[in-house]
Amino acid sequence: MTPSLIIPDEKSFTKPSEIEFILNSNDSSASRIRNEAEEFIARSVEERGISPGIGNDAFRLALWILAAIDESVLTARVINQQRDYLENSLRKENPEDVEEYAGKVGIGVTYDVTDGLFSIPVEEFLRSTRRLSGSRYRLRSQAVRGGLVYAVQETVAKVIREHFVARTFEIVDRIDVSSAREILGEWSEFAQRMKKLYRENHAKKTMELGEIDFKLFPPCIKEYLKELHDGVNLPHIARLTLASFLHKVGMKGENIAEQFKTAPDFDPRTTEYQVKHITGEISGVEYSPPKCATLQANHICYKGDDTLCNQEWLKHPLWYYEVKKRKKN
Ligand code: SF4
Repeated sequence: MTPSLIIPDEKSFTKPSEIEFILNSNDSSASRIRNEAEEFIARSVEERGISPGIGNDAFRLALWILAAIDESVLTARVINQQRDYLENSLRKENPEDVEEYAGKVGIGVTYDVTDGLFSIPVEEFLRSTRRLSGSRYRLRSQAVRGGLVYAVQETVAKVIREHFVARTFEIVDRIDVSSAREILGEWSEFAQRMKKLYRENHAKKTMELGEIDFKLFPPCIKEYLKELHDGVNLPHIARLTLASFLHKVGMKGENIAEQFKTAPDFDPRTTEYQVKHITGEISGVEYSPPKCATLQANHICYKGDDTLCNQEWLKHPLWYYEVKKRKKN
């Protein structure tokens, strides 16, 4: 089996004494774990591409450092990178090893060598796939017999990865920020340095345009907001554009979700989840609104005779706002 598949065990991962031991031991293996965790986090902060696998103890320490850094988008980015590494590894593993790993992380998956399929209890399947998009992960697309879903290795790898993500987020949520900083002691300095670097990199990508001014929004965004407030069911791409636009101009997640309250199919939990996904709190990726050309191709550009929109160089709704805001300032 791939040597570094993480077993996110809540008991040992949230135990301060285990972390203190790794931090304070002069043992060479403890020093290796510390270096591995530091490199793992620095790589994510500096966006140096997908991290390779990391050892269990180093990952455990990394979660404490992330708790001390306290930047939810960075935490999601790190967890999701490890999630993708895990999924890729599981797709290539021997089926028996996949079954063994699933057992270690607490999922009852059984491999049947005769038909080459895995069986998973229906409840487990449903719990782990509810956040996956695509009809092939819906229960109606599965072979179900006697309360078990029969699935191929690729699907099982997805189920396990989702279980991994849910457990790991639960673990980070249980680590209190101030106790993480206290336990890290002199290592807090590393966490603070990473936080500063992360913020600097993040600021470079965020528009520094001060207070949000709705009056300066481009016609498309104004139209989506108006339609939403009138109770119109906006198409998916318009919702995505609106939420990512509002995020990029500096609106907080809860205020973005608030804008969708008047949508006919409004569901607070789904909206909160989708907004967190777009703002990177769950996905680790901060989405940008699509270009004007994409919105035009989808018939949701409302430029009319707006002078700025009709400039040949105007290719993006954010450029519109940026130009208007700078002009006003
Ligand atoms: S031209 Fe671009 S910014 Fe203007 S309304 Fe169309 S999509 Fe929006």
